[in-house]
Amino acid sequence: MANTQDVLIHPAVDHGIRRGNPDFSGGVLTCHCATRPVKVRVGAQTAHNHVCGCTKCWKPEGAIFSQVAVVSRDAVEVLENGDKLQVVNKDAPIQRYACRDCGVHMYGRIENKDHPFYGLDFVHTELSSEDGWSAPEFAAFVSSVIESGVDPSRMDGIRARLRELGLTPYDTLSPPLMDAIAAHVAKRQAKPAPAAANRSAAPAPAQPTPDASPARQPHPAPPPPLAAGGSIFARLLDKLLGRGR
Ligand SMILES: [Zn+2]
Ligand SMILES: [Zn+2]
Repeated sequence: MANTQDVLIHPAVDHGIRRGNPDFSGGVLTCHCATRPVKVRVGAQTAHNHVCGCTKCWKPEGAIFSQVAVVSRDAVEVLENGDKLQVVNKDAPIQRYACRDCGVHMYGRIENKDHPFYGLDFVHTELSSEDGWSAPEFAAFVSSVIESGVDPSRMDGIRARLRELGLTPYDTLSPPLMDAIAAHVAKRQAKPAPAAANRSAAPAPAQPTPDASPARQPHPAPPPPLAAGGSIFARLLDKLLGRGR
C-alpha cells in the first residue's frame, strides 16, 4: 500500500470532497487581485468537475492538480474588469482567459465549432465563494504531473490518495468524456453504411489510431471539420446540463 499521508492534491479536495447541490444555479468567479479584481458570472451549475494534472490548466499556488469543470458558454459573462483579461495561448484549442495581473485563469473557451467540446467553457469554481458547485468526480491526465516536476516515485502515493478521495485516476479524461470524443471522431470518419448483407461478415471499420486520436493531449486538439452539422457532444451536453439547444 502506498503511503498517502502528506499527499496534497488540491486545496478544494485535500480535506475531503464537498458534495454539489443539484439545485445550485451558479455564482461569481473572482480573480486573486486585491484591487480591481476580474469578476465573471457563471450562471449555471457546472458539469464534469474534476482535478486535472495537465500542464495547461491553472493551479493555485503549491497545488499539483488543478480543479476544472465545464459549463455552457452562454452561461459565462464577464462582469467587471474584463480589460485585464488576456488569452494565454491564442494557438491552443482552448483559449484560456487569464488575469494579466495575478495570472488566474477566469475561463477557457473553444472557438472551433468542430471541436468535440465546442459550446462548453472551462472554469475553476474554487474562485467563487458560493457553495454548491458540482463536486469533482475523477482525476484526469494524472501522469502529466510528472511533466510539471513531480518525481515519478511519488505517483503510487498520488494515485492511491486520489482513489481514497473517490477521484478515480485516469491518464486521459474519464471514460464518458473519452467516449464522447471517440464518437465525435467516429462520426466525422463515418462512411456510408455498408449493405445489410455484408454487415455480419465484414470486419469492423478501422478505429482511430492513438496518433490520430486526441486522447494523449492535455485536452483534445480539434478534429477536422464534421461533414454535417450537429455533434454527439451537443446531445451529450443536453443530457449533462439539461439544456435545450
Ligand atoms: Zn487578477
Ligand atoms: Zn488540465
